Amino acid sequence: MADKKKGNFLLLNYFKPSIYLESYEKINLASLKNSGIKLVMCDMDNTLIGWNERIPSPDVINFVKNVYSQNMEFVLFSNNIRSRVENFAKKAGITNYFWDCKKPLLGKMKIVKKLFKYKEEEMILIGDQFVTDVLVANRAHIKSILVSPLSRNKQESKTVQFLEKHISKRLSQENILHEGFYNEGEIGGNYEIL
Ligand SMILES: [Mg+2]
Repeated sequence: MADKKKGNFLLLNYFKPSIYLESYEKINLASLKNSGIKLVMCDMDNTLIGWNERIPSPDVINFVKNVYSQNMEFVLFSNNIRSRVENFAKKAGITNYFWDCKKPLLGKMKIVKKLFKYKEEEMILIGDQFVTDVLVANRAHIKSILVSPLSRNKQESKTVQFLEKHISKRLSQENILHEGFYNEGEIGGNYEIL
């Protein structure tokens, strides 16, 4: 029984983000840059734009500009379809974008790693979901920033909604992360990513 509990606890580490913030707007890009990040990967739906919206807000456009002005690369990394991702990327001034990424699978992540040739510790992924964004980042040994979803995604499957709630509850029980209690995490520290 004790072993089973320990196993579950270790599994939970796969859903632990490096940083947990209210939104992308709270990200301290200068601090990311200082901690050695060179490539910022970012989820689209409910991270940068509500799932039911089409046009990037001026805040999103500014955010992307600010990433570039820190001399970091920006990669849009979405599970959504090509037309939606491409349309959003072009309107937001994003030149590197990937659609149909199938997070948490590692296929497209491997392509990004190959293309950009940065070390894992120089990469970070921003996203709003444990089961796709945080999990793919931890599986790829890169840092992650979890943000609160911009809107509840009614299109998301019941399974994903259930898992998100369950993981959030378990992380809270283990005192790893409490919903709505944001923190800068241990970036730059010795947080060991699985
Ligand atoms: Mg999302």
